[in-house]
Amino acid sequence: KGPVHIIGGGLAGCEAAWQIARRGVPVVMHEMRPVRGTEAHKSEDLAELVCSNSFRSDDSSNNAVGVLHAEMRRLGSLIMACADAHQIPAGGALAVDREGFAAAVTAAITTHPLITVERGEVDGLPPEDWDSVIIATGPLTSPALAEAIRARTEESALAFFDAIAPIIHFDSIDMDVCWFQSRYDKVGPGGTGADYINCPMDKAQYEAFVAALVASDTVPFRDFEAATPYFDGCLPIEVMAVRGPETLRHGPMKPMGLTNAHNPTVKPYAVVQLRQDNALGTLYNMVGFQTKTRHAEQVRIFRMIPGLEKAEFARLGGLHRNTYLNSPKLLDPTLRLKAAPRLRFAGQITGCEGYVESSAMGLMAGLFASAERLGGVMEPPPATTAHGALLNHITGGHIETVEAGPRSFQPMNINFGLFPPLHANPTRDAEGNRLRGNQKTVAKKQLMAARALSEMDAFARA
Ligand code: FAD
Repeated sequence: KGPVHIIGGGLAGCEAAWQIARRGVPVVMHEMRPVRGTEAHKSEDLAELVCSNSFRSDDSSNNAVGVLHAEMRRLGSLIMACADAHQIPAGGALAVDREGFAAAVTAAITTHPLITVERGEVDGLPPEDWDSVIIATGPLTSPALAEAIRARTEESALAFFDAIAPIIHFDSIDMDVCWFQSRYDKVGPGGTGADYINCPMDKAQYEAFVAALVASDTVPFRDFEAATPYFDGCLPIEVMAVRGPETLRHGPMKPMGLTNAHNPTVKPYAVVQLRQDNALGTLYNMVGFQTKTRHAEQVRIFRMIPGLEKAEFARLGGLHRNTYLNSPKLLDPTLRLKAAPRLRFAGQITGCEGYVESSAMGLMAGLFASAERLGGVMEPPPATTAHGALLNHITGGHIETVEAGPRSFQPMNINFGLFPPLHANPTRDAEGNRLRGNQKTVAKKQLMAARALSEMDAFARA
């Protein structure tokens, strides 16, 4: 059998190549830089970090990305080995010397006897005789390849700039203030007529909220972003607020068709709706609240919303170009395109977000592809692990409601909201003392982290 072809020598592509080659299977990697560049990459190194130099928290005791780091180390990750070798001081975060890191990954890949690196763009679907391909071309996939994938998947769009709305942990929402109801109690397929969480506002609260949005500090566009059109119907909330004080009340915050279950006789002046975001029901997104305000501003302003005073955000909003697949519809559980299983996807193009997540999905793609080449089958890791939770989000754990529309799938960082809940939430510490407030959340995260790592140990052994 021939080599596995990997398109894209970024974080995911390098991790996939490493995992495949260390199992004795040859790899040909196709990286377009420096023959052709992207809007963000600056060098010809493989695994270049395009923006920050941080892999975020390295705490695997109660932080989801820290758990992902620990799991990747257990699976022999090249990206983690090079990050650890080039770590620079950054408190509890794993930050790296970016040039040293990229040089180390580049050296490991280019000197590996089973890996060949070919520089040049793959500008259409790979030739038919490449019978095992991993496409890991990232959020800045070259337009020609993106268009070929779009046409093959029969999607209306693949590369566009999407505004994303914040996502909130359900257990941080005050349900004594909010209530479940769909607008006009409409029952869609699979729905109950009470599919949304509603947060009511009176006139004074609404006016203060709009004023805060109008005054908010937004992230400026980079040059290459300025030319990218907004995704249809995805105007940032602060842009709508600037258009006039009534705009939001006639848009995403309209109060029509909703009755406050806690106060049925008083009509809300405006309502913020939250929609279930994952099948587990642990995460809710803010409907129509895509935003480009700075992250600290988002937390401050969105906590002004009644019922969200203590909201914990699994992801904050943002607006940036991103090429990614509608993976829950298009990919099978081992990241292969259902319509053309010789093509497997890895990295951010699958709909994860972030350096670590992209590398982790490269690692999984590498394991799946090498197992296949060696005549075996690898089952995905359990959903209780960070890798399994992320895979599950990408390939199937996501729900699609009629109201959400076909592109409701949004890229996401790893977070505990993607993990299956514990059988029982902790109420007491090891000494038997009753846990209060934030202690419960920390204890819950600790149990989920420990569960993930012990399940990953078993998976890695198998
Ligand atoms: P990449 O690392 O981008 O690798 C893809 C590779 O494919 C590139 O080397 C590219 O040259 C190559 N390629 C593309 N098309 C072709 C083709 N047709 N033929 C051959 N090669 C091709 N995440 C964070 O965690 N922190 C951040 O600070 C951060 N900042 C970001 C800033 C920007 C502007 C963008 C766009 C994304 C950012 N991300 C960040 C998100 C994401 O984690 C990174 O983009 C990450 O590098 C994705 O890894 P990847 O392997 O999927 O893609």
